[in-house]
Amino acid sequence: MSELPNDFNKPAINWEDLPKATREFTCFLDLVIDETLESGNEEYAPTYIRCFGKKCHGIIETAINLIEESINWRCTSCDKSGTITKIFGR
Ligand SMILES: [Zn+2]
Repeated sequence: MSELPNDFNKPAINWEDLPKATREFTCFLDLVIDETLESGNEEYAPTYIRCFGKKCHGIIETAINLIEESINWRCTSCDKSGTITKIFGR
């Protein structure tokens, strides 16, 4: 029995039970984090990630804020944007 708050072998929510849009958005955020940590850009820079907006042909730009320990992302074409916080898990 794990005492960790998140037991990945016994998730409280089954991945398959999540709505498709939620699963896709989770994958999107995962990509955003991976790409941004790899590039380390502190100013907005384009990635290969395409916007998930319906009929949007924009690409996603991301920037890391090392002081805030967050990642900001935005679409080059529509108004979709967001911030991922506490990226270092502290
Ligand atoms: Zn877009």
